[in-house]
Amino acid sequence: MSHYDIVVVGAGHAGTQMVFALTAGGFTGSIALIGDEVSIPYERPPLTKGYLTDDMLSDELAFRAEAWWAGSTVERHLGTAVVAVDADAHTVTTEDGGTISYGTLVWSAGGEARRLPTPGAQLDGVHVVRKLSDAEHVKRLVATTRKAVVIGGGYIGLETGASLRKLGIEVTVVEALDRLLQRVTGEDIAAYIKAKHEREGVEFLLGTGVSEILGEDGHVTGVQLTSGRVLPAELVIVGIGLIPNVQQLADAGAEVGNGVLVDKFCRTTLPDVYAIGDCASFESDWVPDDRLRLESVQNANDQAKAVANTLLGRPQPYDALPWFWSHQYDDRLQTAGVLTGYDSAVLRGDPATGKFSVVYMRGDTVAAVDAINNVKDYAQAKSLIGRTVAADDSRLADSAVPLKAFVTESQLV
Ligand code: FAD
Repeated sequence: MSHYDIVVVGAGHAGTQMVFALTAGGFTGSIALIGDEVSIPYERPPLTKGYLTDDMLSDELAFRAEAWWAGSTVERHLGTAVVAVDADAHTVTTEDGGTISYGTLVWSAGGEARRLPTPGAQLDGVHVVRKLSDAEHVKRLVATTRKAVVIGGGYIGLETGASLRKLGIEVTVVEALDRLLQRVTGEDIAAYIKAKHEREGVEFLLGTGVSEILGEDGHVTGVQLTSGRVLPAELVIVGIGLIPNVQQLADAGAEVGNGVLVDKFCRTTLPDVYAIGDCASFESDWVPDDRLRLESVQNANDQAKAVANTLLGRPQPYDALPWFWSHQYDDRLQTAGVLTGYDSAVLRGDPATGKFSVVYMRGDTVAAVDAINNVKDYAQAKSLIGRTVAADDSRLADSAVPLKAFVTESQLV
């Protein structure tokens, strides 16, 4: 049985950043990176964006070239999943039956894209977009696709929809709720994004369920809605959320909820086991109910850096400001902060100009700012989140008053 001082499970954004931070920080012990995907660790955001529309090769997605990995002391075990954790013995078991022991385990296994529970969901041409292999399949199908249906009006569905439109494919987005991006943004932004897609030719069916995916000879031919209407399609994209990959930790006795529960140092309730990235539900001062699970590159990277610092002997609680971006057509949405529990929203600027922001307030505290094509507001918002500003201060709605003006006159809560 091989032993490593640190075993990192999951070679995505968080796990890879973890080994980069450890090696850059001068960690001299042994490190293993175990991942179930065979490819060189790569960036996910382009999978729904440039990777689908441009001539981007999968190599260009790599965080670091093969030469870096070959020259590093990190031992990669790729193409193999960890199926069990024994917290007492400090070991993990891989699907090929191997056992690896650890001093410290860092769990960065992300999540699985939620599958559609409807009949026909297994047909060829029905895809989630979570992994490079998913995007490769979709990319192969676009040349022969005239009509696509996107199920789910969240970021993954909308970004993929935008990319398919760019490729000239007819796109219909079906969303069960009455508006887009319900979980992640406010009404002004959702309305702007919907209108943008509609101008680009996307059809939306909101408040609409799917009863069956129809097919012929094993390949999808259409989507049957609960209303009985059938949408013909050669390609169906399913973007209906993520299930955190934490079963192995739960089986080992870790406390789990919406993800595996960790404290401010990203420690799970198991000894010497940390969790970071999309799978971790962490204690946070940025939200009133104290726990967050974020699906963002920022969170994966910054949690990895915080835990690396702890393991390098510089214990560091994780409290980085959450931020996020999405790219659809020529629009760039940037978010600073977390919208959870906001009770009012202030629009800055005119959405019709294609450049505006929304400030979300929790009482008199700035909870978050969404900025569409407004880098200045976004940059300045980063210093304003968590500070007090009177929600009825009319200057907040005046885009001529820079957000930084409020920083100097406000207090950090
Ligand atoms: P992942 O990057 O998913 O890595 C987890 C890895 O662990 C995966 O390789 C997985 O296969 C592996 N794994 C799972 N179980 C096991 C196991 N048992 N054993 C071994 N390995 C295992 N965020 C943004 O901020 N902006 C964006 O524009 C954006 N766009 C996105 C577009 C797409 C298509 C996707 C899928 C995500 C996007 N995100 C974006 C989210 C961002 O990519 C994730 O938040 C980030 O990848 C999370 O990193 P992670 O390491 O926690 O999980």
